[in-house]
Amino acid sequence: MKLLEFTKTAVKRTVIRRLLQQDQHRRNGLPETFQGLPPDLWGSHISEEGHLCVQDISTITLAQDYGTPLHVVDKSRLKKNYDTFVGAFREHLPAVELATSYKTNPLPGVLTALHRMGTFAEVISHFELWLALKLGVPPERIIVNGPGKGKDCIDLAVSQGVRLINIDGREEIPWLVDAAQKHGRKPDVGLRLVTSVGWQGQFGTNIATNESLETFKKLKQNTHLNPCALHLHLGTGIKDPDIYLTAITEVLEFGLKLDKELNIRINTYDFGGGFGVPTVRTPDEWDLRMPDLGYAPRMPHPDDCPKPDEYARKIGEKFRQIYPDFEKHPPHIFFEPGRAITSSAQTLLLRVITVKQTRQSIPKLILDGGKNITMPLGYETHQIFPANKMKEPYTSRFDIYGPLCHPGDIVARCKPFPALQAGDLVAVMDAGAYFIPNQTNFSLPRPAAVMVDGNMVEEIRRRESFSDIVQLDTLMPFGVNCA
Ligand SMILES: *Cc1c(COP(=O)(O)O)cnc(C)c1O
Repeated sequence: MKLLEFTKTAVKRTVIRRLLQQDQHRRNGLPETFQGLPPDLWGSHISEEGHLCVQDISTITLAQDYGTPLHVVDKSRLKKNYDTFVGAFREHLPAVELATSYKTNPLPGVLTALHRMGTFAEVISHFELWLALKLGVPPERIIVNGPGKGKDCIDLAVSQGVRLINIDGREEIPWLVDAAQKHGRKPDVGLRLVTSVGWQGQFGTNIATNESLETFKKLKQNTHLNPCALHLHLGTGIKDPDIYLTAITEVLEFGLKLDKELNIRINTYDFGGGFGVPTVRTPDEWDLRMPDLGYAPRMPHPDDCPKPDEYARKIGEKFRQIYPDFEKHPPHIFFEPGRAITSSAQTLLLRVITVKQTRQSIPKLILDGGKNITMPLGYETHQIFPANKMKEPYTSRFDIYGPLCHPGDIVARCKPFPALQAGDLVAVMDAGAYFIPNQTNFSLPRPAAVMVDGNMVEEIRRRESFSDIVQLDTLMPFGVNCA
């Protein structure tokens, strides 16, 4: 048995070494000064003192002024991501609008900034719809999606006259009809479709099983509804344009079928989000094995992800192929990119609390934030920079943990780094998607967030206080203001 295990491990090591060599070879083309990727990929730079900067501001100063853990939003990066994405899609398709996926990064400061740039709101719950309205988004610029919106959400959406409600299945139709009658409105309605590619699970209705067609028959029976849209959302972090092309082809063909068989004219297509981010990697099974055998998993490589222009060009070509009268009667087209816009515009600063030396393994870093605020690191590989030691050589290697009393509180393993010490600062890059919505209060308050715009810094969310955490509890002996 022992011999078998030994042989298996030796084979794994050989494969891993080969994969790492290939990876290293591909990286030779990158302007690499680091293990991983250079900071200018995020629009960041390094100061004379070797500090990582967000625009003109040193992350060290930000950490001193606002404390850690700290989310740092780079407003110019947000704008650049939005401009690049919308620019590419408008070049290849007419009448494209982007809707900001609220759940991807529900910081009101970020949502407002994106709306000012020109995005619609894409919400999937009663709360998110309430938030969009509170932020002053005009109802005609709100799209309501989601598998579990519920009756109250639908009622509010209809009463306000939102731009589009995409139902997830026929079960939502009675709620829509009730609301439409009650408020004397005729809402534009779409249906979320499931194609041969992408997520299925609890979402939408399947084109192939005819459920989608049946649902449209039901929609058409109601004079209070205006069925006019088709909706897709395929997944997240997708780096293969062909997945979109396959799905969009099936959706457009379904649209033609609706016209032919039910005389329903689709004039709005909402193709969801899911576009991948060049600086985030989804580990494969080999990456997952690497740390156990003492190797750092591979870092993201920007060439693995198509640029927005490539997605847009291919989708544009597909549309022109399939959609009749595309130039004369172009439909309204929405995309809902979440992470492609927000991910790289946000950095999470964490402080080293302790470095634990042990005899049996590499040293362990304990940071002041872990799983409670870095959940996506459990299933994605992100660049992590030594923010105050950017010019120091990578002479060490650490397993990195958060502060929670939980064995799953792992941030990264076998991470090559300079010789970090207590008090040093690390920067988790691409913290702008799914970090904030997945934050928990596991033993600790949630972090503050600041937005950097040129040489200006604005606190857009204050750090949670201890009393914030218990303010809804009714049996606190000392009352709410226990700070
Ligand atoms: C989550 C979600 C998005 C955004 O997804 P990203 O992967 O962040 O681009 C868009 N549309 C819908 C319906 C969603 O649920």
